[in-house]
Amino acid sequence: MAAAIIDGKKCAQDVKNEVAVEVQALKARGITPGLAAILVGDDPASAVYVRNKSLACNEVGIHSEIFRLSDNTKEEDLIRLIETLNNDRTFHGILVQLPLPKHLNERSIIESLDPLKDVDCLHTSNMGRLVDGSSIFTPGTPSGIQELLKRCGYHTDGKHVVICGRSNIVGKPAALLFIQKGDWANATVTVCHTGTKNLSDFTRSADILIAAVGRPKIITADLVKEGSVIIDVGINRVPDETKRSGYRLVGDVDFENVVDKVSAITPVPGGVGPMTVAMLLLNTLKSAQQTSSE
Ligand code: NAP
Repeated sequence: MAAAIIDGKKCAQDVKNEVAVEVQALKARGITPGLAAILVGDDPASAVYVRNKSLACNEVGIHSEIFRLSDNTKEEDLIRLIETLNNDRTFHGILVQLPLPKHLNERSIIESLDPLKDVDCLHTSNMGRLVDGSSIFTPGTPSGIQELLKRCGYHTDGKHVVICGRSNIVGKPAALLFIQKGDWANATVTVCHTGTKNLSDFTRSADILIAAVGRPKIITADLVKEGSVIIDVGINRVPDETKRSGYRLVGDVDFENVVDKVSAITPVPGGVGPMTVAMLLLNTLKSAQQTSSE
């Protein structure tokens, strides 16, 4: 049977529609949820991501502002801006688009965020809450994957979830989400990385395989189990002369060859990416709802 192509765009639109309804309800009570996005430097991919997040905010009625800083911004200046935004009641969420230019210490900058406005869930106190299962926010990409599986009816309970990649934004928090005792979690989780020997031994035993490596088509058909569910997080630019931009986006999964072997798979683009943005909107809404109940 042909694999189901998991439609991340549609699921994200459903989440956005739900968020829009709640935003209207908050606005009726005089509260407009707000998101501040900080973009440092001129990385073209980061600029596109921030723009898409801002457009998505507009779509659901969330106020958003982009704070653009130059490549050579000093750490203390960036931290000063974050502290100002921490105290600005217009903004319920603040995101710092990563990666930052090399001279900036990513960790100290993230730690300067008010954890209650850290809608990307990167502050150590929010990561700690994730370990404990008492999160205020759940990080966008991992919770987007969880929501996608939930909305499409792919159960994780008792399943072997194998995650390739252990970054702080995807691999590690995804592992923490899926090992929690609870609905749409409760999985047996394996995390693979460059230190993993015989990667295929793990990936081939995955009921659900999450690829978050950042290497085009590294997950080939021989690495996946027949009938498994494949979640492709990777967004890689590969040269393509037929495109005006000169490149196209591909995932970490060799989609064309894997699709015939599995029961469901996310495309790139149109899979996890839109869900990540939708979950950011949900977190901003939650943060605004929290302040309204104080
Ligand atoms: P990252 O910080 O570069 O982490 C990549 C991870 O993959 C690392 O843990 C690395 O292991 C592991 N890895 C690299 N080569 C490997 C190999 N040959 N075998 C096994 N593991 C390997 O990347 P990231 O930020 O997590 O992002 C991963 C990909 O997802 C990128 O393409 C990124 O653009 C994309 N992404 C997409 C979304 C979305 O919304 N769709 C969101 C975030 C990221 P070590 O730790 O040992 O180095």
